[in-house]
Formats: sequence, C-alpha cells, structure tokens
Amino acid sequence: MGTEQSLRNDVAAANRIIERFGLSNAFGHVSARIPGTNTFIIPTRRSPGLADADNLLVLDTDGKILSGEGTPNSEFWIHARTYAARPDVGGVVHAHPPASICLTQIGEPHRVVHNSGGPFIDGVPEYDRIGLIRSRELGDLLAGRLGAGIAVMMRGHGFTTAHADVRSATVAACYLEESAALQIRMLAAAGGDAGRIRTYTRAEAEVVHGQINENVVSRAWEYYSTAAAELPLGCK
Ligand SMILES: [Zn+2]
Repeated sequence: MGTEQSLRNDVAAANRIIERFGLSNAFGHVSARIPGTNTFIIPTRRSPGLADADNLLVLDTDGKILSGEGTPNSEFWIHARTYAARPDVGGVVHAHPPASICLTQIGEPHRVVHNSGGPFIDGVPEYDRIGLIRSRELGDLLAGRLGAGIAVMMRGHGFTTAHADVRSATVAACYLEESAALQIRMLAAAGGDAGRIRTYTRAEAEVVHGQINENVVSRAWEYYSTAAAELPLGCK
C-alpha cells in the first residue's frame, strides 16, 4: 500500500474524482483505512472536490478524531461503522450520484445491463430509510445492509461503496453510477418497461463481473485521477 503519505494523496485524489465525475458536488466523501489498524483517513467538512492531502483527519471506528485540524463531514459514521463491521475493507466511498438516486426512487434495483455493472452481479442492497447517517446507530444499520457486499444504495440519498482499498472503492463507485445512468437511459428508451431491457443473464454477468481487479483498477485509477487533476471544480 505504500507510505501513509501516498495513502493521503490517494484519499485526496479519490475525493476530487467523485466530485469531478459528477458523483457528488458540495457533499460526499472518500476515506481509506490505515492498513492494519481500526483508524482511517478522511477529509475535513467541505466538498470532496476541495479535498487537500495536507489537511486530512484520522478517526477511529468509534468516531474519535485522533489527529488533524478541523471537523469531519457529518456522515463520518458511514466510514467508521463500515470499517468496524468489515475488517476486509480498506476504502469507503459515500456519494450522492444522480442516476443511482433515480433508481432508488422508482423502486428499480440495480441490474447488470452493461459491462461496467458486472462487479455488482450479486445485487446492490438498498438502505431505504431516508436522511443522513449522522449517528453510530445509523452507521451500524447501513453497514448491516451493506453486509458482505461492495455497495449499498441509499434511497433518495446516494450510495456507499466498500472495497479492499481506496482506489478499488473509487473505481467501483464510478462503475456503479455509470451503470445506473445507462440503466436509467435504457428504461427511458424502453418507455419505462424494465422487461424490455436485455438484462444480462447470470452466466453473461459472470463473464464481466471480475472487472475490479488489479489491472483494471490500475488503468481506471490512472485515468480518473489524471482527468480529475486536469478538470475544473464543478465541471459536471
Ligand atoms: Zn450523504
């Protein structure tokens, strides 16, 4: 994983990615576990598009601030309680992406309708309680809905992704929103008839499900992080 400084650079880059690529605007946040600990790095309370590698906080899974200047985003409990529940998770993304929110509000589950949806072959559970996750108890409820998966939809709110490291969690977030956006467009083109969409069969989805692997994440991260560094704030 490299040094803690490289992890801080990744956290800042991941936060800029979710803002530059339209997954979040003033709100949303990405964190990374400090490997081998129950602590994680998360930005201060501002847009993810303004995340700064030199101004990050370290919190533990009980929500205690261990280092850094400033206050965390109010939904830090999403991160704290996901890391508490999932020792295998090294990166968490929470965003408010429009297409995924649309899916939750028309009661349509995410379906694999395109290659980028492949990693979500086992379904994306939904947390259907509206409102922000501003307590330990709500963080535990959300982590419970996530279960052993890599993503959970949050009705009328957004989604949270969780993966082995922050780069993979960020690529998963970009893929999920891309997939949801295509699903919404297909639904519109099909006159709202979900039955007309040629949803991948389980066997077909299995062909494309292993996309969040080392090679793909490396290439996708290179693209997203380089583009995010070039794109202006608020471009989407
Ligand atoms: Zn939120």
